[in-house]
Amino acid sequence: MAFNIPLSFPVLNGNENLYSQQAISSGHIATFGQFINRFESKLSKRLKTHEAVVLNSGTSALHLGMVLLGIGPGDEVICQSFTFCASANPVVYLGATPIFVDSEKDTWNICPEILEDTILSRISKGKKPKAIVIVHLFGMPAKMKEILEISEKYNIPVLEDAAEAIGSKYEGKACGTFGQIGVFSFNGNKIISSGGGGCLISNDTNLIQRARLLSTQAREDLPFYHHLEIGYNYKMNNLSAAVGLAQLEQLDAYIKSRRLVNQRYRNLLKGFPGIEFQTESNDSQSNYWLTAILIDKEVTGFSNEDLKRSLMKNGVESRFLWKPLHTQPVFNTTPYYGGSLSEKLFENGLCLPSSVDLTFKNQEMIVEVIHSELSKTFK
Ligand SMILES: *Cc1c(COP(=O)(O)O)cnc(C)c1O
Repeated sequence: MAFNIPLSFPVLNGNENLYSQQAISSGHIATFGQFINRFESKLSKRLKTHEAVVLNSGTSALHLGMVLLGIGPGDEVICQSFTFCASANPVVYLGATPIFVDSEKDTWNICPEILEDTILSRISKGKKPKAIVIVHLFGMPAKMKEILEISEKYNIPVLEDAAEAIGSKYEGKACGTFGQIGVFSFNGNKIISSGGGGCLISNDTNLIQRARLLSTQAREDLPFYHHLEIGYNYKMNNLSAAVGLAQLEQLDAYIKSRRLVNQRYRNLLKGFPGIEFQTESNDSQSNYWLTAILIDKEVTGFSNEDLKRSLMKNGVESRFLWKPLHTQPVFNTTPYYGGSLSEKLFENGLCLPSSVDLTFKNQEMIVEVIHSELSKTFK
């Protein structure tokens, strides 16, 4: 269904046309070309990280990251439960088991206390987890200080799924640069898009070199095809990189717009009883990729489902929050630690339209729908 107001739609009014034409004219539209190098160097400069390797999806970046961390059959990997399935699927590709952990109420991301309890519990059962996958949901930085302390204390590396959080900051530092490995996605509706694509970053040069090797079928640098290990076909192509670079040039402007959209919703809904926003703390700055709210049905008299339906009737797309992975049928035998917080977030939450070019007028209309939902309840 096409919506008059989509949830998140890319704006392609920068150098996307120019760069992709240049890529086509150069004949380099596959996995070699100047835009791959330019996109990678601009990413590493922007993020102040050692090096970036661009890949064909965020999922392949996560998969490769787990390969680099040595995850294999029989291993256990701790993963935030409240996320998109792509955070955990690569654990299963590798024959390992995800161990899901609940969120905390401030950021909606992994709860550091439950994380530590989980590590202790798994160790007492005889297996120390091999890695911790954390996520910055909807762009909101997780509690990195506490998470990194635990990672160091137990010597377990952090794989940072920053797929939704490019440009978000925690204590002034870019999200994605805290873990041993960080991952971004440039899929269709992310804050910047390369059509499809992802990126792996690290400050460890050895890991980056291995990422480059493994993403090109582990082809050794010899005149003939020579392979010492099993690799993957995970490189980004030059045409995607051309679009991605043009998008990255606009990232600061996009973040400004997304944050403005978020601020306007807050102003328009100020004092509205029973609606609460996902909110950053003093030490963090979200890119506010999507503005997410919680609806307390006891107070408002309407649920997230009711509102989603009414918005849809008005041509407005909204989306439920991620359904926690520990509640997904496909993961129903997977261990889970925590309570019901992420389930409550899922049951009450809704992502509102957050495109860069969303107008104030449209936001007023969306908030009008929310108000009319309220008057339906109390008429
Ligand atoms: C989008 C997303 C991914 C996967 O990225 P793709 O580029 O779609 O493969 C992984 N994790 C999270 C949290 C995401 O939102």
